[in-house]
Amino acid sequence: MKTFLQGGRHLAERISEEKLAQIRTETNIVDVVSQYVQLKKRGKNHFGFCPFHDEKTPSFSVAEEKQIFHCFSCGRGGNVFTFLMDVEGISFVEAVIKTAELSNIALDFSYENHAQNNPLQSKKEKLIQIHEEAAAFYHQVLMNTVTGQAALDYMIQRGFTPGTLKEYHIGFSPSNRTALFQMLKAKGFDEGLLQESGIFTDRQGQNELFDRFSARIIFPLRNAKGKTVAFSGRVLQATPTDDSGYHEAKYLNSPETLLFNKRDFLFNFDKARSEIRRHSEVVLFEGYMDVISAWQAGVKNGVASMGTSLTDEQNRILTKTADKIVIAYDGDRPGVEATKRAIEILERNKHFDISIFPLETGMDPDEYIQQKGPEAFAKALKNNRETVIQFYSRYLKMNLNLDSEKNRITYIETMLKALAPLDSLIERELYMKDIADEFSISIDILQKQLKGYQQEVIQQRPEREPVRRPAPHAAAPHAMYPSTNVRKVTQAEQSEKQLLYRLFHFEEVWSYLREIDADFNFIHDDYQTIYILYEEFFRQSGLVGNIDQFLDRVNNPALQNVITEIEWFQLDSEVTYQEIQDLVHIIRDKSSLQERLTKKQAEMKEARKKNDNERLKTIMLEIVSLSKELKATKK
Ligand SMILES: [Zn+2]
Repeated sequence: MKTFLQGGRHLAERISEEKLAQIRTETNIVDVVSQYVQLKKRGKNHFGFCPFHDEKTPSFSVAEEKQIFHCFSCGRGGNVFTFLMDVEGISFVEAVIKTAELSNIALDFSYENHAQNNPLQSKKEKLIQIHEEAAAFYHQVLMNTVTGQAALDYMIQRGFTPGTLKEYHIGFSPSNRTALFQMLKAKGFDEGLLQESGIFTDRQGQNELFDRFSARIIFPLRNAKGKTVAFSGRVLQATPTDDSGYHEAKYLNSPETLLFNKRDFLFNFDKARSEIRRHSEVVLFEGYMDVISAWQAGVKNGVASMGTSLTDEQNRILTKTADKIVIAYDGDRPGVEATKRAIEILERNKHFDISIFPLETGMDPDEYIQQKGPEAFAKALKNNRETVIQFYSRYLKMNLNLDSEKNRITYIETMLKALAPLDSLIERELYMKDIADEFSISIDILQKQLKGYQQEVIQQRPEREPVRRPAPHAAAPHAMYPSTNVRKVTQAEQSEKQLLYRLFHFEEVWSYLREIDADFNFIHDDYQTIYILYEEFFRQSGLVGNIDQFLDRVNNPALQNVITEIEWFQLDSEVTYQEIQDLVHIIRDKSSLQERLTKKQAEMKEARKKNDNERLKTIMLEIVSLSKELKATKK
């Protein structure tokens, strides 16, 4: 069996070229990229925000027809494998395996066999295995044992269906604190690794590790790829204190490990992602119980940060998947404070259309569903939403007693300051009218005051970019055309690229080229290298225009970027002999001019050395005229 080999990317002699071809044909790059980037179709191609650099207008493009991607801003490009390599930081082989997984193509060997070459990757894989085994164990205990019966009864009584318990792989940790350890040890897992998993607590002087989550209902925490990387345990019965007088926390999470970092973890993101993409909207909850209840109520685009306020990392992840965000935190005071902090973080990158689902004091979404039912919740979440300004108004009123004159003034001033940066005139008018009515003040006075604040806003704005918050309901339609910051290329270079494009896509161009100039060379090393590599690829595979596949033969990211850039050329679909001839002439002229110029410069040096002033004068005139010609070809 022929295996696919190429410099440094030896496929461990496991993936045949046939298999690779199958993976390639059965995979659509748009589906894979969509797991990471929200794409919108424009013409033939899809556009989105580049995952490799921060940007405000989408310049990242995917060509479904060609099965490649290219960013017009940072210049990165490649095929589905290079995309996964870059975005996941994995090797070529790993990217191939991952693509196969995403496309449900069976491979005769698994990811972890291969991960042995990478110690850190291999360790992570082992830790994930430990978590998956532990999750299965806990789930089994909950669903099918006497030990788990009380917990199961409790969950069912709480309104969770067996389907949901299965979907989220919810479990129960038995009060026997060494059962899990014994089971995992028997399966051959290394004790040091078990210790590192965060699932156990160490008891000194004993040869056993104790289950950290003992006697708790277990919620597996899955990463964005759907792999269990941590657990959260919830006490079954609130016992005020145990015999040591230690008060048990209601929720207990895994500590931070190699797999689990709270700052960039979002509960349910793996399950919610496609739904979030579909509506470009995400619902942000405070806790995972809310997420699961909401899921069961049909709200499937919910995620939760893990018991902490929203972080910049989580914001970044969400920004890439949605345009609209609904904050559905608890109705108590900490929940409202957390909402305010979340808004501040979300507003930093001016991306989201933010709304808030207001809950009564002391109620969280999970309780709302229990009390009022899933339909009522889904309906309310859809229809009862506050704008950020309405939330601020509510927030202020919670904190200020408006019976006092002083507080009323503070309230009005704070609200006007919040209104000052709004872009929507109509929106501002509406809120002003509300304030005017509520406090019986003339709208003219409010207008005057507002003008003053707007001046401040303008002065505070940094010069280079306007600070704006999108008006609610009017999510700024993002410009879907690439912003080209590509460096200026000379006419000769442009011709080189065009010629390569033609060589990529038309077999006849190769014979044209041989006929026009048998010894043709590109001026720039990059293009010459691509030319040689492609010729070899073409000779071996006999494939024309298969750039997606060619990219795998180019073991150099910089060249891959150049190739995908060339692929975005908009050219006539027909090629003529004349076109190729013109291109070759432009390139050859430039190259011969450059050669002559270099030669003359050497001669000039020589003449100087010999103090041959007559000769020097002649050469200098020649150089001036050559330089002029060269300049003209660059235009
Ligand atoms: Zn980019």
